Amino acid sequence: MSFTSLGLSAALVKAVAQQDYTSPYPIQQQAIPAMLQGKDILGLAQTGSGKTASYVLPILERLQRQAPTTNRAVPVLVLVPTRELAMQVGEVVKSFSAGLPRPVKAMAVFGGVSINPQMMKLHGTDVLIATPGRLLDLVEHQAVQLSEVKVLVLDEADKMLNLGFKEEMDNIFALLPTRRQNVLFSATLDEEVAFLVADILHNPVKIKI
Ligand code: AMP
Repeated sequence: MSFTSLGLSAALVKAVAQQDYTSPYPIQQQAIPAMLQGKDILGLAQTGSGKTASYVLPILERLQRQAPTTNRAVPVLVLVPTRELAMQVGEVVKSFSAGLPRPVKAMAVFGGVSINPQMMKLHGTDVLIATPGRLLDLVEHQAVQLSEVKVLVLDEADKMLNLGFKEEMDNIFALLPTRRQNVLFSATLDEEVAFLVADILHNPVKIKI
């Protein structure tokens, strides 16, 4: 099994090779082709499974065919529970983006630090990785606009719910357009996650690792 056979273009395959990924992990084998087809995804997977690349690579592939973002309307939103995961996902996006024909701007935003530097850097962001509370603060400050989101990823959705972000998440969902691709990753599928899945995902491809 190769990354090429999953449907990724030469530019992305090269980016993957530069990170010393020789062959796709099982979650990537299942998630990448489905995401490239525009399907919603429910991924039940732990950290260490390779879940990050399984959504980042199809997102970068999709962005290669789209004009660069020139305003504050982000096309891709990744919601995460913690600052650590935000920074980690941001680094993964940046490492795969280096050298792509169509440059991709990724930015990670989270609470606990001053909002002003984040506000000033947001213009032209293609992939915004955010914790829910800080994202809403940035929306209120009109530093980011969510009405053009084409792809929504909820990473570690169970942890986001456990940390009490449900209300913030609902407020964010209300700002998104209805037509979009949705991806949800969770380590567990308890009742609360199941409600979120029913609310957010449409006929998802289910992947359990
Ligand atoms: P994640 O579960 O996304 O946090 O990924 C866990 C680790 O696996 C990270 O250090 C990735 O860089 C690495 N990784 C993910 N996919 C692959 C792959 N196909 N080949 C080699 N390493 C990988």
